[in-house]
Amino acid sequence: MSTRRDSAETPAMSRVAIGRGDGLMRVLKTSESMARDLVRDIIASGRQSGDALPSEAAMLAEYGVSRESLREGLRLLEVQGLISIRRGPGGGPVVGMVDPANLGRTATLYYQMAGATYEELFEAWVFAECELAARAARHPLRDARLAAMAPFLDSDDCADDEQQAGVEDFVAQHSSFHATIASLARNRVLELTLQTMGQVVTHHVAVNEDPRVIRDLIATSHRRLAKAIVAGHGTLARTLMQQHIEDISNYHRDQSSVQMDEVIEWQ
Ligand SMILES: [Zn+2]
Repeated sequence: MSTRRDSAETPAMSRVAIGRGDGLMRVLKTSESMARDLVRDIIASGRQSGDALPSEAAMLAEYGVSRESLREGLRLLEVQGLISIRRGPGGGPVVGMVDPANLGRTATLYYQMAGATYEELFEAWVFAECELAARAARHPLRDARLAAMAPFLDSDDCADDEQQAGVEDFVAQHSSFHATIASLARNRVLELTLQTMGQVVTHHVAVNEDPRVIRDLIATSHRRLAKAIVAGHGTLARTLMQQHIEDISNYHRDQSSVQMDEVIEWQ
């Protein structure tokens, strides 16, 4: 039962405690060991996204596991989007993408179990994007900052195209700006993990509405952010990003069918 003090700290709701389990100590299943060996081999062989993996027969021989364990191991990686499996003749497993959206999806499983709310997600999203913007502006090479931000410096010029774009295209364009900022962070751990909050918001909230309603606001914010990053102003980039994400958050708060005090769902 929650006390009054608890409810002031975090919303009172049914949740499973955040704590230490035996996850790091338990013995791996054969399928998990096989999946780890396969990942190691993908990296060692230099395979890239879309490259085919060996046939099932070849992998059965290589890893010395049962067909059931092989398929379970492949399934573990498929769920994460790290491989995809084409069905039918000429099909087979291929290398997938390292997509922060999939990391975000896995995270929502934990958020749901822990009782984390959309309000907490939005708060974390502001934190994450501000950190990425500040790091991008502090990238030591101005040429790299300019090359990355160039497509976004004249976002007004794209307005006609954006007017024509569907919701999915618009969301993709918006995500690509934030992914480009993340790519300037010079830290792959931060690039991956700090993008997950925005990806979850996009997946859970943004696609249910039409963010094009605030396209002018977004275009102006992106242009100012791109200029601050090219100019190397970390503090300004952080401030502008905070305003930008809070503007979008406020829009979603007003419009969304999702209640901010609802628990994030794994989806
Ligand atoms: Zn944006």
